[in-house]
Amino acid sequence: MRKLNGIAASPGIAIGTVYLYRDDVPRIPRYRIREDQLEAERNRLQEAISRAVVDIKAIQTGNDSEPNGDEYKILDSHRMMLEDPSFQSSIEDRLEQEKYNIEWILARTVKEMTSKLGMADDEYLRERTTDIYDMAKRVLDHLMERSRPQLADLDEEVVLIAHDLMPSDAVAMNKRMVQAIAMDAGGKTSHTAIIARSFEIPAVLGLRSITRLVSGGEQIILDGNHGVVIIDPDAETVEQYRQLQGKLEEHEARLMRLNNLPGETTDGKLILLNGNIEIPEEVEGVMNHGADGIGLYRSEFLFLNASGLPSEDEQYQSYRRVLESMAGRPVTIRTLDVGGDKVSPQIDTGSEKNPILGWRAIRVCLSETEIFRTQLRALLRASVHGKLQIMFPMISGIQELNRATEILEEVREELKSREIPFESDIPVGAMIEVPSAALTADTLARKADFFSIGTNDLIQYTIAVDRGNEKTAYLYEPFHPGVLRLIRIVIDSAHAEGISVAMCGEMAGDPVATVVLLGLGLDEFSMGAVGIPEVKRIIRSVSMADAEELVGTIMDMRSASEIDEAVRTYMHERFQLDTL
Ligand code: PEP
Ligand code: MG
Repeated sequence: MRKLNGIAASPGIAIGTVYLYRDDVPRIPRYRIREDQLEAERNRLQEAISRAVVDIKAIQTGNDSEPNGDEYKILDSHRMMLEDPSFQSSIEDRLEQEKYNIEWILARTVKEMTSKLGMADDEYLRERTTDIYDMAKRVLDHLMERSRPQLADLDEEVVLIAHDLMPSDAVAMNKRMVQAIAMDAGGKTSHTAIIARSFEIPAVLGLRSITRLVSGGEQIILDGNHGVVIIDPDAETVEQYRQLQGKLEEHEARLMRLNNLPGETTDGKLILLNGNIEIPEEVEGVMNHGADGIGLYRSEFLFLNASGLPSEDEQYQSYRRVLESMAGRPVTIRTLDVGGDKVSPQIDTGSEKNPILGWRAIRVCLSETEIFRTQLRALLRASVHGKLQIMFPMISGIQELNRATEILEEVREELKSREIPFESDIPVGAMIEVPSAALTADTLARKADFFSIGTNDLIQYTIAVDRGNEKTAYLYEPFHPGVLRLIRIVIDSAHAEGISVAMCGEMAGDPVATVVLLGLGLDEFSMGAVGIPEVKRIIRSVSMADAEELVGTIMDMRSASEIDEAVRTYMHERFQLDTL
């Protein structure tokens, strides 16, 4: 039996069998080559192409597929593309000019081809991007000698152990079969943690070396409430955790009875409690947990899969589906926020030296304006199906907000001239997740219809601590006085201009922070749906006067640890947090 402590990233207890996912992110290597290595790289390409062609033929004959059948024809078209001399020479030309390893050159060439096709008006041409990716993937697999296990294909219940998972892996995995997730890497606000919470999958992250301690098949207990993992537990420990599992279930069932009640303080202030989602399938969970609406739909998850940029129509269908399922409750859709740890295969943000400070979110949208306009068109078209709010991520100052709203206005004009209907009074908000935005919130509040504070990034940028790095996770302090002061500035500036403030970062779903946020004046909380009942329970048993008093005490304290201890003690005594 071996016990490990990590970061409690998603609550719940699982007792199951280890599945070790060894093949992490298929990062495409990138390194310079010399003139005298060109020939060797050309030979590697030829060999990988020949092996990919052999694979295709083997599938065609192995499947006994009809030579006139669809699958056969698709595979044939892949083979012809691979054998096409102009395809090969475009890669070789690029190799000679740029002198990088052949994997990188191939990936760049393919990206260029697909982004051109992805913009085509013709649906047929746009669909060809998938074929190009499939074909290129076969060659890359041979070049990198990997064959990637597919988490989507999991067909028995497992506790998934990985060094790190990309958010796209986490979304694609067969979630019904993943009882829990444990990783070497990651922090509480990394996107994998967020997705695990959204899907109610218990997770412990930042374990540093768990992948070296298991080989697959071991029994394992994972306690996502306390950040504990126990490998090869003895029978007594298993029994203890089974009992704890039962108590947690009872506690949850009690909380669910609050579902139809409002989030109202004892002195009558009504607080909206919303859910965060990444994909439309999560709406059901949001509704089941008694949410008032959706406070954050991370639309970029439509852009993270490898099969090309989503078309306007695909986006429209997803937005429409969410708006319709929420049946008139407000739905805040955030425009594309790729970059950082969310890498889209079609938008090249991954090769930067410092992606967290680099080309991400609104910065991408304001330079790739066609992608942005397509998304805005889809959003406006969908607006007639529900109560839409649009918000822009990573706004750092007024120019970005002005430019984004200007483009939105142009798209409105375009739809009007084409007589395509859309709602005329869609609220447009700014996410406040960069310190410069928080400090200029007074200016932004004159332009925006609402704010939503993204504490995951706001904390990261205020304390200069990577939100996904387990080594510095101890510095990631939501109760840092610097963070609390910024939140106060944002809320006060917004209220002075008469606009409301939501919070959609993970702090909003942390019950320890609920009373502090209430006391600071937050109007709306948005979180992974599972967190709503507990936050509601607290809101319904405290008055604004008490919450303001608590804030009055802690704002004079000097350090994060002092505030953290005071708030935890208060919350524990008054609301019996952490008793399970
Ligand atoms: C945030 O930064 O708090 C946020 C909600 O956005 P994301 O986690 O997607 O960066
Ligand atoms: Mg963010």
